[in-house]
Amino acid sequence: MNLPGFPVQRPRRLRQSAALRQLVCETRLDIAQLVLPLFVRGGRKVRRPIGAMPGVFQLSPDELLHEAARAHALGVPAVLLFGIPDRKDAKASGAYAVNGLVQQAVRLLKRELPELLVITDVCLCEYMEHGHCGLVQRGKSGARILNDPTLKLLARTAASHAEAGADLVAPSDMMDGRVRAIRTELDRLGFTETPIMAYAAKFASAFYGPFREAAESAPKFGDRRSYQMDPANAAEALREVALDIQEGADIVMVKPALACLDILHRVKTQFGYPTAAYAVSAEYSMVKAAAMNGWIDERAVTLESLLAMRRAGADIIITYAAADVARWLKE
Ligand SMILES: [Zn+2]
Repeated sequence: MNLPGFPVQRPRRLRQSAALRQLVCETRLDIAQLVLPLFVRGGRKVRRPIGAMPGVFQLSPDELLHEAARAHALGVPAVLLFGIPDRKDAKASGAYAVNGLVQQAVRLLKRELPELLVITDVCLCEYMEHGHCGLVQRGKSGARILNDPTLKLLARTAASHAEAGADLVAPSDMMDGRVRAIRTELDRLGFTETPIMAYAAKFASAFYGPFREAAESAPKFGDRRSYQMDPANAAEALREVALDIQEGADIVMVKPALACLDILHRVKTQFGYPTAAYAVSAEYSMVKAAAMNGWIDERAVTLESLLAMRRAGADIIITYAAADVARWLKE
């Protein structure tokens, strides 16, 4: 490009009016791209507030249905379900129980709101007594998170969600080979048309803090750095995404979002796959906290943040603010 520059070039010409600015707007946020995460727990009429995430609740299935219906009426096309079981064990039995919480919630949502896309988070941590995403082997040198034996349980979990009627399954565990294991099991059972949205580049991030309270899934010992990625690594994130695509992922996700805009951009540019950004709990909570103090404009900051994810390359945005955003975009 060889531009003559000022005074021939005056970029401000195109910023003179709202209509002109809209005309040349490069990136838009669309309600159709939003996914609302929801937490389901047992019981009836339960709406348990999550202290660190104002406006977010653990919901019993009946309340979950209300919340999903409200968001759907505002135009939010999809929800992402997490289960919070009453009992946990060393095999994460609740994750793949035929009548598990998520499985029940999926059936209810698909029966009452058939148009709503129901995505299920596939992981074991909420169902494990130790809070890790895989089976644990304890030895003299400490505990290890086992990879290959965990794959079978993840595949079983995903299959149980598909059997309940989930539209998409979303493995978040970061075990090696889990997308292949899940794809193989889904295909074996006839769910060849159920897409996989893989948490492909999932970093071991401090931005997940408030979620641990929400999902009651904090590890009882150690941390998740032996399976989630080091936030310092971008080339490795691209290798993770490449692997998930080879294994059969239909949509690839980057998590967290705002701290990983460079990763989002590289993933979208390099692979051209449908790409999701997960605006995680602390991204939501920090905005809420600052807004509650009157320090920032919640709506403007939220919309600008999500727009930045779109600009970086995200096609799909998973956000706890999805219902608010849908309302704002309609106003
Ligand atoms: Zn997990």
